[in-house]
Amino acid sequence: MDEDNTPKMNDIVPKSFEDLIKEVHERGICGECGGCVSFCTAADIGAIEMTEDGPPHYSNEENCLHCGICYLICPETFELKSELNKKYNFKPPIGNWSKIVTAQAKDSKIREIATDGGVVTAILIALLENDLINGALISKRINSFQRIPFFARSKEEILEAAGTYYDLKGPVPELGNYNTFVSTISELKKIMHSDYMKIAVVGVPCQIHSIRKMQELNIIPAHIVKYTLGLFCYENFKFDDVARAKIEERFKFYFKDIEKINIKENLIINLRTKDTPLKIEFSELSDIMRHACRVCEYFSNYFADISFGGLGSQTGYTTVMVRTKIGEKIYNLAQNKGYIIEPNELNSSVDKSKILAQIINFSKSKLKRAEDFEV
Ligand SMILES: Cc1cc2nc3c(=O)[nH]c(=O)nc-3n(C[C@H](O)[C@H](O)[C@H](O)COP(=O)(O)OP(=O)(O)OC[C@H]3O[C@@H](n4cnc5c(N)ncnc54)[C@H](O)[C@@H]3O)c2cc1C
Ligand code: SF4
Ligand code: SF4
Ligand code: SF4
Repeated sequence: MDEDNTPKMNDIVPKSFEDLIKEVHERGICGECGGCVSFCTAADIGAIEMTEDGPPHYSNEENCLHCGICYLICPETFELKSELNKKYNFKPPIGNWSKIVTAQAKDSKIREIATDGGVVTAILIALLENDLINGALISKRINSFQRIPFFARSKEEILEAAGTYYDLKGPVPELGNYNTFVSTISELKKIMHSDYMKIAVVGVPCQIHSIRKMQELNIIPAHIVKYTLGLFCYENFKFDDVARAKIEERFKFYFKDIEKINIKENLIINLRTKDTPLKIEFSELSDIMRHACRVCEYFSNYFADISFGGLGSQTGYTTVMVRTKIGEKIYNLAQNKGYIIEPNELNSSVDKSKILAQIINFSKSKLKRAEDFEV
């Protein structure tokens, strides 16, 4: 401290895990993404660890170096916001973009298994087949409902992880405490075998936000992430057996009858027992929404190279927002080499204005929800 009581740079103590506890955990907004634990500077000697079902905690507080990395990279803190906004040329409410289009994978086999138009899967395959990546960090099903992080290294593995179809042969598996959010970021460290690796990551906005923060701070291994493919995301869900029974009762269906789930302008559930899908407004699901999602401001994934969603596109098509120069390069490659197609009849200027209007509406509505929660 100077004589006039002005703090000097050396006196400023970085915020650290204690501050995460106060500002994130105690406010009930930890997304349990595992980022702070995986990238903790003291990870080798053990300072913090994940808990069974809740935010991480100190396992050995005395090992904490108070370096502040966990606080900086947590997607729920405001750190690095202005730096990232500037770097990615953020303009409210949907961020920077150079192209908005509705598209689909050219390969009908991809379209059959994909969530929407299979554009994400087609671009990942294009990147792999053109030697631009060694693999992609995505997520795959382990049983009828649950997904886990997955590092796909071949076309077959990328295809295995596409889509959100459910194959319910036999009884519904025990779901227990079930979370639709898949904590892929914590896998990054396990994937890196060499500095020269090049990977793509698919993720919802909070995940891409963490990666951008790590890249900004040069935290290893964020440098191996060469391409970020971001998914739109209004909210994710977390529920247990009691909540599931409540949902079945409220919307008059059984989980065992689910064929496919999709998230667009609402939650769309295709049932084996019904010809038309069940559409549930997000507002009717607020009791099973993950707590972290209540304060999340990011709908259209504005720090990604390209963002993708179903919103605004017809069934069987993906809405694509190309955002960065890198995004432009890979989208053009996938299109020029025939991996994806953009039907002219669905991409008139009127159609594109409608898509844009929907993305703006959902982005504003999500921002308002976050502001209301803060109030
Ligand atoms: C949790 C979640 C919430 C979403 N919310 C919305 C929404 O509110 N509105 C909207 O318009 N669109 C939303 N989407 C995006 C939409 O569901 C499609 O993923 C998107 O349109 C791309 O479709 P596609 O057919 O091109 O993708 P596909 O070709 O089917 O590829 C999807 C890729 O995403 C990966 N993936 C699936 N789930 C996850 C996950 N949890 N974490 C990381 N990677 C994953 C798969 O492994 C696959 O590689 C959401 C997606 C997810 C996963
Ligand atoms: S060592 Fe650093 S990264 Fe790890 S818990 Fe402490 S402050 Fe956070
Ligand atoms: S949101 Fe992720 S990084 Fe932040 S405290 Fe929770 S687990 Fe750690
Ligand atoms: S709503 Fe936000 S916090 Fe929740 S899963 Fe989506 S991106 Fe993450």
